[in-house]
Amino acid sequence: MVRNNMKEMAPNSGTFATNWSKRLTAGDRRALARAITLVESSRDDDRALARELLTVLAPHTGGSLRIGLSGAPGVGKSTFIEAFGRALLALGERVAVLAVDPSSARGGGSILGDKTRMERLSRAKEAFIRPSPSNAALGGVARRTREVIRLCEAAGFTVTLIETVGVGQSETMVADMTDVFVLLLNPSGGDDLQGVKRGVMERADLILVNKADGELASAARATVSDYANALRLLRARPDDPPPEVQQIPMAMPVSALTGDGLESAWTQIADLANWRRDQGWRASRRRDQDVHWMQEEIERRLIARFAANPAVSELSPNLREAVATGSLSPEDAADRALAAFFSSMAAAKA
Ligand code: GDP
Repeated sequence: MVRNNMKEMAPNSGTFATNWSKRLTAGDRRALARAITLVESSRDDDRALARELLTVLAPHTGGSLRIGLSGAPGVGKSTFIEAFGRALLALGERVAVLAVDPSSARGGGSILGDKTRMERLSRAKEAFIRPSPSNAALGGVARRTREVIRLCEAAGFTVTLIETVGVGQSETMVADMTDVFVLLLNPSGGDDLQGVKRGVMERADLILVNKADGELASAARATVSDYANALRLLRARPDDPPPEVQQIPMAMPVSALTGDGLESAWTQIADLANWRRDQGWRASRRRDQDVHWMQEEIERRLIARFAANPAVSELSPNLREAVATGSLSPEDAADRALAAFFSSMAAAKA
């Protein structure tokens, strides 16, 4: 019942959304936290309210640099975000950190479930850390995260870091909602690609080999040159600057522990982001992303409607059985299921 709580907090004056928008854009953190809870809710009335709020907020959104950060568990993401985030605060940025993994991907733990995760950053006034919503399917997480980015922007955050452990399709999802995509890797001795899928490598603008300190320093340097060579062959994107302006993609060593390399990492990210913005690529990338998410949203809703349709549910076991035993082809079965779906929709309308 987010609605009632929120109404209590915004009594009397004007409409709910306008009120809430005022508080949010004034940087009221409690209003931001509540607004996020609202967009995470799947209740129909909360959804309607969330959309109203996002519409009112629209002119105040889009202002942050959206950075995606992916890496396997243990690679040092939280240590990195803690150090990197604090370095950005020192530069006067306001930093929001969001996680996109469905809770199961973290073995039940959330971004803040482990108290040591980003402890100092989370206490900073100019930072905001929001864990992944629990029990959400990837589709739900995607929608919620895109909306939360906008809420954070309306609340004045200038850098939004979106973190994922990179299970399933979550890396692609994060790359599809950010301006710059960064991959964090471990130093490794040899030529293995650390199980990183090619598609993910292709999306990464910057590869940071973490733990380039102490005994791991030389392994990290070796990993950087392995990747630097591999990366050059991987892609030629129109929204990459020409090499004489900036080498993208790029691999470089960092140490989240000592802070070495974090400043250069920021310079690379900011330079790339600024170049893309100035050339118009940022705006076109964001437009393309919106179109992509519209398509995803349509598919997600259609599938949900299909799955919840009683006529389809009634027919499904028989169809599955018939396909499994070979008495019906998959195509014919799909025809019948879809016919049942569309005729029940038509009947409901009539
Ligand atoms: P996450 O699972 O990706 O969030 O990784 P964590 O940030 O929890 O780090 C996993 C482990 O790696 C912890 O023991 C960290 O102390 C260690 N670690 C993280 N960054 C560095 C680094 O730059 N150098 C070294 N030596 N260890 C690091």
